[in-house]
Amino acid sequence: MSMNYDDSSSLIFINTIESSEGIQKSFKISKLQNPNRIYFDIDNAVLIGDKQQLIFGKSNIKEIRLSQFTTEPDVVRTVITFEEGFDVSKVTLFYLNGYIIVRCAVPQITNDYFNTVYNDNTENLTYSSIAVNSQAVQKVPINNLENSNISSSVMADIQQAFENSTLNNSDGKTFDSVISVDLSSNLKLRTKYHINNARTKNNGFLINGIGQITADKMFFLDSPKRAVIDLPNTYVENNLRNKEIKLCSDNSCKDTLKIGQFEYNKARVVVTSDTAEKYIPIFSADSQSLFFINSDKLKHTDLISSVSNINKAFVRKINNKTNELILSFTAPVVHSVIRTDNALNLYMFNVKSYNEQDLIKTFNNTYYKPFTLSLLPQIGVRGSLAINNTDIVKIDQSIDGKALKITIKQGISDKPEEKAVIKKNATKGKVVIDPGHGGSDYGAIREGINEKDITLDVSERVSSILKSKGYKVAMTRNDDTYVSLQDRVDFSENEAPEIFVSIHVNSAVATEPKGIETHYYHDYSKDLAKVIHSHLIKDIDTKDRGLVKSKFYVINHTTVPAILVEMGFISNEEERAELISDKRKQKTAKAIAEGIIEYCKSQSK
Ligand SMILES: [Zn+2]
Repeated sequence: MSMNYDDSSSLIFINTIESSEGIQKSFKISKLQNPNRIYFDIDNAVLIGDKQQLIFGKSNIKEIRLSQFTTEPDVVRTVITFEEGFDVSKVTLFYLNGYIIVRCAVPQITNDYFNTVYNDNTENLTYSSIAVNSQAVQKVPINNLENSNISSSVMADIQQAFENSTLNNSDGKTFDSVISVDLSSNLKLRTKYHINNARTKNNGFLINGIGQITADKMFFLDSPKRAVIDLPNTYVENNLRNKEIKLCSDNSCKDTLKIGQFEYNKARVVVTSDTAEKYIPIFSADSQSLFFINSDKLKHTDLISSVSNINKAFVRKINNKTNELILSFTAPVVHSVIRTDNALNLYMFNVKSYNEQDLIKTFNNTYYKPFTLSLLPQIGVRGSLAINNTDIVKIDQSIDGKALKITIKQGISDKPEEKAVIKKNATKGKVVIDPGHGGSDYGAIREGINEKDITLDVSERVSSILKSKGYKVAMTRNDDTYVSLQDRVDFSENEAPEIFVSIHVNSAVATEPKGIETHYYHDYSKDLAKVIHSHLIKDIDTKDRGLVKSKFYVINHTTVPAILVEMGFISNEEERAELISDKRKQKTAKAIAEGIIEYCKSQSK
């Protein structure tokens, strides 16, 4: 179905869907020379879509190719080309939970190899280069069944699997098809962590997986009270997603936890609890597991196998704004990072002692001088530092678990910055309309109805209403073509409009959800979101799902007030029928246009 690889490029995952006829689970590797490569065949397998290829920028792997080698019998061949001199006899293959995994190398375990476990500012991998290529599905020769020798039951199974698959597309919403590799772009899919086990443990919740876990800053939501933590570059096994799990098996609490695939390559963990703010994430020493628990219920003995004391500390000044503190331990350290708006608390659970005088000396005359360590009975050691909410904190742990690196980049106050980024040359009365998806990116699809077609239709209607009122309108696409998210942002930045409005259709795995959501990200976009949303809700008879603060790419990276409207659910049968009707399209367009006009008028006062 697709391929991806871990960050160290030592593991390659080939994602498969098993048909009722079963899948081959052991493989014979053959070696070839000039160039140095191996191949293996997967028998009785059909490659979905075109030949696939990944090119690696680093590691010993140069390239991996998947192709339909023969169709009678069905054989998919995988060829992996390595650097000359790489010993291919080290390569092993195994099958796990739908993945054929190629292990090309064992990661070197050294004390100086760090993995990021916490980051305020996760590297924003751009997936604009991933074509959400629904055409791949259509390339399955379902119509040519008569001419091919693929058994119809196998094809039916594959089709069925697509129907059931719920991956996420580039705007972070679910869609119903397969992701294939767009060979024309330099695809780099980087899944660093693969969650394959999740369960309750001692009134807490334990997540286990393969790879290296990273977490974003935890945040909280109200009514009901929830704690949310995102795990970027993470894939969650299908069977673990979206299950409401009771955390207190003894019924001593009503707390529940849910884990889901929030975006294409991001997992989200949500704890619903009256004491949500008490929940903390605890990282295992090998960065492969994460344990969530109400800190009041934390029993020291649940976590700790061996005592690890602080050995040494080093402080490095990277530049005027960035400083780095490395703590080295006698054994792998189990820790938790609690980053609030004005403090960083680092809990080291299995630390019993440290040389205070040594550490004070090390911190002296450095950025980390106010870093205070305190010994907490029953817990371990807490390191605290007062920071600003705009400071960017990054915590890395060495692969052997025996060192933590705390990097802090000092930020500037965000309020003036928010204002400063708004373009000064913005053209009054000019609007950029962004019809979601297009071309090979279909967006959400249900019953042969494509999000990309509805978004274009409604956008055109908004545009013509605005033009008739004397507004200047520029659209990021005027026909059914693929435009990357970055190109949409670049287009808008070039046009320098007064506002940017992106138009989308929502979808969910469940068929019940319906209604309208208006998304904004920057505070300077909130007023625009409010005005447009109120027009939509006033004019359209559906559920009001409210304003949502979301880090969608196009509304995060545009520097003028920018919002994204999800004008209804294609996954709800009733709403789908409405969404494609002239009446609903026109009402939606009119409401959006009226919202835009009201907002622009209020700005010119
Ligand atoms: Zn969309």
